[in-house]
Amino acid sequence: MILTPLASRPHDHSRCVSQALAEAENICSRQGLRLTTLRKRVLELVWQSHKPLGAYDILAVLSEADGRRAAPPTVYRALDFLLEHGLVHRIASLNAFVGCNQPEHAHQGQFLICRQCHAAIELEQTAISQAIVAAAAAVGFSVDSQTVEVVGLCAGCREAA
Ligand SMILES: [Zn+2]
Ligand SMILES: [Zn+2]
Ligand SMILES: [Zn+2]
Repeated sequence: MILTPLASRPHDHSRCVSQALAEAENICSRQGLRLTTLRKRVLELVWQSHKPLGAYDILAVLSEADGRRAAPPTVYRALDFLLEHGLVHRIASLNAFVGCNQPEHAHQGQFLICRQCHAAIELEQTAISQAIVAAAAAVGFSVDSQTVEVVGLCAGCREAA
């Protein structure tokens, strides 16, 4: 398991971005998917930081860059594509998207969300997802998907406090 404590500390973020884009290219070419210019651009925007980005923010940046309004449906479709193939996760509590740092294998997202800087640190603890599945099964519930969102204060913000 690789943790990303990086997300809440100063680091060379350009490496996160280039690694994420390279992984997306690999996954798409391996699965015969098309990482179109727009999909790639949207992924890049989501990865501009470790703070989840809303669809409206993405639309606003794209519109400004192109000098004309980006069509919302095409941007939503691009986000759906990225979600479907595990390249981004949706953070429901913020109604926003964040890049996945381990897109090469399927997993359930678990996020530590900083209430101050809004960074979302992804965890991948199979013990947590298994415990949820087991607890659900105990009450006769079958789990389709799960995204765990935990709110608190990140290491960087705690140090700054
Ligand atoms: Zn980074
Ligand atoms: Zn992930
Ligand atoms: Zn923080």
